[in-house]
Amino acid sequence: MYALLSVYDKTGLLDLAKALVSKGIKLLGSGGTAKMIREAGMEIQDVSSITNAPEILGGRVKTLHPAVHGGILARDIPSDEKDLVEQQIEKIDVVVCNLYPFRETIAKPNVTIPEAVEEIDIGGVTLLRAAAKNHARVSILTDPKDYPTFAEKLLTNSLTQDDRNQYALKAFASTASYDSAITDYFRKQYSVGVNQMTLRYGANPHQSPAQAYMETGPLPFKVLGGSPGYINLLDGLNSWPLVKELHENIGLPAAASFKHVSPAGAAVGVPLSELEKSVYFVGDIDELTPLACAYARARGADRMSSFGDFIALSSKVDVCTARIISREVSDGVIAPDFEPEALEILKKKKGGKYCILQMDPNYVPAELETRQVYGINLQQHRNHAKIDYTLFDKVVSKNKELPKSALVDLVVATTALKFTQSNSVCYAKNGMVVGLGAGQQSRIHCNRLAGDKADNWWLRHHPKVLGMQFKKTSKRPEKSNAIDLYVLGAVPSEGTEREQWESVFETIPEPLTNQERQEFLASLKDVVCASDAFFPFPDNVYRLSQSGVKYIAAPGGSVMDKAVHDTADEFGMVYTEIPLRLFHH
Ligand code: 5GP
Repeated sequence: MYALLSVYDKTGLLDLAKALVSKGIKLLGSGGTAKMIREAGMEIQDVSSITNAPEILGGRVKTLHPAVHGGILARDIPSDEKDLVEQQIEKIDVVVCNLYPFRETIAKPNVTIPEAVEEIDIGGVTLLRAAAKNHARVSILTDPKDYPTFAEKLLTNSLTQDDRNQYALKAFASTASYDSAITDYFRKQYSVGVNQMTLRYGANPHQSPAQAYMETGPLPFKVLGGSPGYINLLDGLNSWPLVKELHENIGLPAAASFKHVSPAGAAVGVPLSELEKSVYFVGDIDELTPLACAYARARGADRMSSFGDFIALSSKVDVCTARIISREVSDGVIAPDFEPEALEILKKKKGGKYCILQMDPNYVPAELETRQVYGINLQQHRNHAKIDYTLFDKVVSKNKELPKSALVDLVVATTALKFTQSNSVCYAKNGMVVGLGAGQQSRIHCNRLAGDKADNWWLRHHPKVLGMQFKKTSKRPEKSNAIDLYVLGAVPSEGTEREQWESVFETIPEPLTNQERQEFLASLKDVVCASDAFFPFPDNVYRLSQSGVKYIAAPGGSVMDKAVHDTADEFGMVYTEIPLRLFHH
């Protein structure tokens, strides 16, 4: 019986060798490993004595030989036995091997590519792979921590097939991780900007290094301007599928305005009335393209939250859309293509640092997605649920009338939820998100947040807001902030905050009275609402009723489903039960 030993890390080697020898197992070793064991007074043959070939190429070829791999890979079957006899090869039952320290080498400062290349273990990986493949017969030890228990089991004749299975699994994992370190290194050497992109830092400035990469093939986007950060990519790669799916499922160009991995707004290109144009700060633009309509709506839903947004656009970016973007505070944009003049406009933003990503519209991500949390891999099938009109077929309320416009809004709201941090509730109208509550632990809190945002959005249509006289010098974000305080009824009657608020106006607006606010809110009608999971209590429906919601889409499954549906019936709402839960994290 033979054991082959070839280890870079020689920890525990001599004790293991002693156990093998005392069990009557003959030892074979590669250069340095054999030398150490021999110097400790144990008998060991050089691998070269069975290969009849010396180590060559400065150690690059040591164990790569049929006499070694035949001895490891042979099964206990007649044809293999016959081959071994003919070639005078002895079976090897134990392989002990660990690899050159590639990771440690490349971590050294200023390491050159030739130095790194020399640390790529070839024969060791082959030994590990061959022995692991033949674990039905061979024990493969790669971790010195396993030596003592292996020795103990060997000496007490208690080594089992399960032990060999576990050793093989460790060996496969060790070569996989070794290969991923090598691939990572060479991606950074040979494929910067193609398969790999180094990021300045991760979620926070102290989190470096950081990078984006593909396991195989090129990244599906090109950087046409600026340099994307980690959160830009999180926003871009969540918002892109949102607009792509909206466009595909509704048939209109779509836009999203993302902040911190949730949409602040999302919309399809439904044309804007003159009133809407002024609410969304695009009243000065005569002709809006469908894509521009979509972005004006997405940006206009919640202008406070959209400050510094990351934008996704489903179609080629035209000049009109680029002009709207150019005057807003924004961090970046992702789109499948850009008209040359539109690209020039965007490239001038942020002193040339505006992040512009061109997405490959034909890219299809892998079915399985994996992420790591606290060092642990979590894997799941991608959320490939299709959100089209047919999703809302099951109407459980007495009122079953679902007009096309409500269906469009339900697709918009539900698609937005698919890419919103949960819990989430979304209100929509006129092809756009009008209020979105994201990332709350309680559904009613989410709902209230979404409803309050929808109220705020609607109050911004009030004649008193539309009639506001701002100073020419007031900036767009200053106007948005001032309107927000005003419609909330949160403008203080005195003090510096009041003074600051007043400073943006040419003429100080008359306050919006409580009665005016209530009356105007009562005019909000035909809003849709979607929820990423069931409504657990009827309180949610009461809240919806306060913001003009008429159409609801939510999964079922709550013990309170009936009470929730009955409450919707009280208000004459149309309640569609969707067969999908849409948590997103
Ligand atoms: P030793 O110290 O015994 O000379 O070398 C042990 C190391 O050589 C182990 O890390 C093992 O993975 C590696 N090794 C074994 N066979 C070969 C081979 O044929 N070529 C190369 N490049 N490395 C090998």
